[in-house]
Amino acid sequence: MTIELSTPNVDADVLDPILESVRALCARFPGSYWRALDRERAYPREFVEAMTEGGFLGALIPEDYGGSGLPLTVAAAILEQVQACGCNGAALHAQMYTMGTLLRHGSEEQKRKWLPGIADGSLRLQAFGVTEPGAGTDTTSIRTAAVRDGDHYLVNGQKVWTSRAEHSDLMILLVRTTPRDQVKKRSEGLSVLLVDLREAVGQGLEIRPIRTMLNHATTEIFLEDLKVPAENLIGEEGRGFRYILDGMNAERILIAAECIGDARWFIDTASAYAGERRVFDRPIGQNQGVQFPIARAYAEMRAARALVYDAAGRYDRGEPCGEEANIAKLLASEASWHAGDSCLQTHGGFGFAEEYDVERKFRETRLYQVAPISTNLILSYVAEHVLGLPRSY
Ligand SMILES: Cc1cc2nc3c(=O)[nH]c(=O)nc-3n(C[C@H](O)[C@H](O)[C@H](O)COP(=O)(O)OP(=O)(O)OC[C@H]3O[C@@H](n4cnc5c(N)ncnc54)[C@H](O)[C@@H]3O)c2cc1C
Repeated sequence: MTIELSTPNVDADVLDPILESVRALCARFPGSYWRALDRERAYPREFVEAMTEGGFLGALIPEDYGGSGLPLTVAAAILEQVQACGCNGAALHAQMYTMGTLLRHGSEEQKRKWLPGIADGSLRLQAFGVTEPGAGTDTTSIRTAAVRDGDHYLVNGQKVWTSRAEHSDLMILLVRTTPRDQVKKRSEGLSVLLVDLREAVGQGLEIRPIRTMLNHATTEIFLEDLKVPAENLIGEEGRGFRYILDGMNAERILIAAECIGDARWFIDTASAYAGERRVFDRPIGQNQGVQFPIARAYAEMRAARALVYDAAGRYDRGEPCGEEANIAKLLASEASWHAGDSCLQTHGGFGFAEEYDVERKFRETRLYQVAPISTNLILSYVAEHVLGLPRSY
């Protein structure tokens, strides 16, 4: 039995046909497609192209700039469905929301220049360069510096874990424009630049892939006297940290929706296998020791999902949703991990065999407890901002 769940805060007449076409499209990219990519650590180009042609990647871009202007709830439901079908939405969510910084803080001229191409997929904005080796989670300690020199900035520094940079035309880059010892608050003096990678690669910007336990196309980026036109500064100089923070609730909600999709895939896959696999002359799913962990994973997924769409609804209504978005991401990433663990256990030895896709999804879903934000940092947020406890760092 495949899990079917309704989505709150959105008209089923609008959402159902969208999800039906997502399902039909995902059916063209079965486990064998993802396994082959995983083996080669290759990029899901055909899948991204198909989703682009389907019009899904411009979901959050307003119609005025060529997108569909859909609410975040619908974007979340699309990503949940992609994961529930066994596909991997990492290369989709990036194109869907990385443009948010440009949309919210860019000038009208910048938006007219870039957004229509991002909406129709002719311009790939998939790369988001924030994390640095020396700063880690402490974003305001980044050292990549941009110095204004006439009509451009000269950028020097290094980024790490910049995913999809090799498959992106544009990159949102966080840099320090005023040294940390010259600002009152450490969150000041940071700025956001839009880097045109088509011009930058080989001209002061070098990309080196990092091989990781999952197929994520992530890279290191080295910047040496890279020239970025001053007109590519997004918003005001010095306010970049605030701009990046502004996008985080949406990012957390979308990632949490992906976790829910993963959890659904694990639960569906585990239930099907538990019903089919016979040991001691009966289906293994007849044993409570097998069915209870799957049932518990389902319960956890439902609870986390309720919070994901509560957060999405608040976001769409323009209400504060920091608490809900953070907790949704925390619980959804744990629900998908627990569902993955029970799915693997249900499969016994076959859970480790590549052809069942369980071990691949298991590796993929582990990431969500670390990136884009690790669990401890969410707990710090809840402790400090929701419970009023002292800041711990
Ligand atoms: C596959 C992958 C893709 C990624 N893609 C991108 C991307 O596209 N763009 C980008 O900018 N970044 C990206 N990242 C980076 C990701 O956001 C970071 O890895 C993540 O935020 C954690 O930072 P860190 O790895 O430096 O860990 P660290 O900051 O070194 O932390 C290590 C551990 O210590 C804990 N810790 C640190 N400080 C505290 C504290 N004060 N209290 C309690 N615990 C603490 C953390 O929770 C973590 O568990 C990606 C990472 C991965 C692995």
